[in-house]
Parts: sequence; C-alpha cells; structure tokens
Amino acid sequence: MSDPETVLAAAGAAVGRALAQRRGDRVATPLTESALKTALEAYDFAAPLPLERVVPELIHLLRNFAVRSDHPRYFGLFNPPALLPAIAGDLVAAAINPQLAVWSHAPAAAEIERKLIRLFGSLVWSDVQAAGTFTSGGSEANHTALLAALARCDPSWDRDGVRAHARRPAIYASAESHLAWIKIARMCGLGSDAVRLVPTKDGLQMTGDALARAIAADSSCAPVMVVATAGTTAHGSIDDLAGIARVGRDHGAHVHVDAAWAGGALLHPDYRHLFAGIEDADSVTIDPHKWLAVPMGTGLFLARDWQPLAQAFAVSTGYMPPTSGERHDAYIHSVQWSRRFIGARLFAALATLGLEGYRALIDRAFVLGNQLRARLLADHWHVLNRTDLPLVCFAPVAADDERVRAIEQTVVASGEAWISTVRLRRQLVLRACITSYETEAGDLDALVDVLGQGRRACGTSRS
Ligand SMILES: *Cc1c(COP(=O)(O)O)cnc(C)c1O
Repeated sequence: MSDPETVLAAAGAAVGRALAQRRGDRVATPLTESALKTALEAYDFAAPLPLERVVPELIHLLRNFAVRSDHPRYFGLFNPPALLPAIAGDLVAAAINPQLAVWSHAPAAAEIERKLIRLFGSLVWSDVQAAGTFTSGGSEANHTALLAALARCDPSWDRDGVRAHARRPAIYASAESHLAWIKIARMCGLGSDAVRLVPTKDGLQMTGDALARAIAADSSCAPVMVVATAGTTAHGSIDDLAGIARVGRDHGAHVHVDAAWAGGALLHPDYRHLFAGIEDADSVTIDPHKWLAVPMGTGLFLARDWQPLAQAFAVSTGYMPPTSGERHDAYIHSVQWSRRFIGARLFAALATLGLEGYRALIDRAFVLGNQLRARLLADHWHVLNRTDLPLVCFAPVAADDERVRAIEQTVVASGEAWISTVRLRRQLVLRACITSYETEAGDLDALVDVLGQGRRACGTSRS
C-alpha cells in the first residue's frame, strides 16, 4: 500500500470513523498511566510498522487517553473540534508543504494568508488595509504585539534591546488577562514584574479609569503597551476597549486588544457592537483555532500597519532572496522563519462554509449560551458572571470551595460532560463554555442533569 492515494484514503477512512463515533465516546476517562505506558512500550522503533496499523493505534491512544476537548459535551476551555474542511485544508498544506518564509517561494499561499488578514482586519478597522501574520496561536500573536510595541516605542530598541529604554518598560493588562503575558515579558527580557495587572471592576472588567490610575502610580516605568482583553478566559468579560485605548494613546503606549477567543465572533455583524472601541487598537489577537474551529496551531496577529513589525523583525542575510518591502516577506515581519501554510485551514473552512455558514456557527454558540444560562437559573444555580458571550460561571447558593470542587469532580468523573472551575471575586465557581459547534440543546440537558446529581451528592441545598 504505497501509492499516495491508497495510503491517504486508508488513513482518512480511519480518522473519519473516529469522528463519526466521537459522540458515543466518554468525554474524559480516568487515566491509567500503566496502561498508557504499556501501550507506548510497544513502540521501540526498532522495526518499521505498517501505517495501516500505526494510524488506528494512534487514534485509539488519543481517543482513550485524553480529555476529549473535541466532544460535544466538553464545556471547557476554548478547544473546539476542528471543522472537516479545515482538516482537509491542513492536509493539503502538509502534503504540498509550501515554505512561506518569503513571498516569492509561495505566492499563492502568501496571498491567501494576506487576503484572510485583510478580511479579518476589515472587521476591526474600516479605514486601513491591515498588516499582520498567522501565528501558532494567541501566545505568539501576543508576543508579536509586545515586540512590535517595544520596537515602536524606541527606535533603537532593535539594536539596544531593553537598554534602549531610559525607564523600565511596563505592560498594563487586566488582572483577568491571559497570563501568557508573564511568559511573554520574560521572553522579551523584561521580567514578569514588567506586567502590571490592573484590578478589575467587579472582578471582571478593566476600565480606562483603573488603567489610568495604575499608570499614574508607576512613574518609574515607561508604559510601552496597554492590553485590553475582549473575552477573558475565565469569565468572558470584555474590557472597556475605547476607554483603555484613550488612556494608552495619552501615554504614547501601543494599544493591543487580546480577543483570542471572542474575536472569532467579529465575523458576525450582529455581534460587532460587543467589540465597540476595538477599532482604536494598534493591533489585535484572534485565535481561529478557538471559536472558528480550525485545527490547533492557528493564531492571527493583526495590525494597523507593517512598520512596527518591520522594525521588530527585519534582518538581512545573503542566503535569503533579496526581499521587496512591498511584499512584506514573512520572515522579516514575524517571529517564525520557516513557515507552515497555517492559513490553509481557515481558507478551506471559510471558502466551504461561506460567511453565512460561519455566522450560523457563531450564532448557535450565543443561542446555546443563553439557553444554558436560563436552564441553570431555572435549576436554582447562582449565575455569577455578566457577559453576552456563551460562557457561564455559576455555583450553588452559598457553596464553599470544597463543595464546588466536589461538584466539578462528580461531573468530570461521570464521563458525561466536562467543566472546570475558576475564581471569581475570590470565590471558586463552576465554569461552562459552549465550545463545540456540535453541541446541541440535549447536551445542555445532560450537563444540567449531571450537575444536579453532583449537587445532591455533594450535599449542597437547592436554594
Ligand atoms: C487562549 C488565549 C490566549 C492564548 O492563546 P493560545 O492560542 O493558547 O496560545 C491568550 N489570550 C486569551 C484571551 C486567550 O483566550
């Protein structure tokens, strides 16, 4: 079985069978590490094995030794199953394997990505043709934002690094922001203290006023970047985007909006108002591998212009082709050098679903989110976050941490659904997010049922 068609058809058929059976699988299976170890011990790589054996075994391992974030009753973090056309697009990218470091090596792939960047940019800014790059995810996109901000705030930063700044560079973000910022500050040589976590209003939202107070209290620092989060990971709250941009602008800081998860909803004009003020940002992060359900490893960094990216990343070497400024070759405008055709996944999904199909997918999550909120309220749960996004934080009335954790564990151990816990104003609460485009109303019933069982088993009262 060595001709490409037969090999790929067989592998594809095995993947297809697994996807067809997904709904019948448990969402999570208690891990027996010894069984996993034994399964992997069969692989000593001494003798070659046939692919028709390796692919089904690999699928078996992933189905049985994992939290099934691709399952319709996974109500966890933002890890949806990948859309079929996006998987096909990814397969094409892997098969042809174009090199996107320079435009001239893969003009079709580069222009497809450029087209997608301009499309998403147009959802943020109506007045510019956006710059940007596909990234491995939100973390790399946010890392790119900080590098662009540093380069922009001091013209000698590309040469002198942190020594270019007379005062210590600081980044301001909400206390509820994604803590990739800590790692990013370290990767930029600034140290984690450079990240100033601004207290939120009601434990949820950062306002422009709170940001202004935090900057004013920090006169020894240079505010190089302010970050507004549009859709916090824990509670789905959206910062005061316009207010934060205004304060950032007043201080000469780069204004970045981290919309890694919720930014997918920008594709639907009915939800654009949730992001009012995003157009004031200098750059934006959106993760198509979250709400837009393309395979993992697909982030998007969007910017108003190329200049800060060129400043941050430009180098020249003899073995790279002479590059044209107009082409914005990716290797001199981004973190990566050799570059996979990441955008193929989104291109195939968008071309196949069309904007209408994607809007239906987004709408569906909002509708289900509202249904889940209503069902939990009807079942006497306390809903504790306030957001229009399909993410609900809830707890039994007056429950302590121990009981909340016990309920979470009961739900997860049942294999019926998967949820997690987060802190909200110091209180531990349950968190359920509509993540999969395959989730249906019946799955909400199943979740509310198993939550009720958990609540009874853990001895909390109904009201
Ligand atoms: C998920 C997320 C990130 C990190 O993105 P990755 O794709 O996991 O690297 C950053 N910020 C927010 C708001 C997120 O939701």
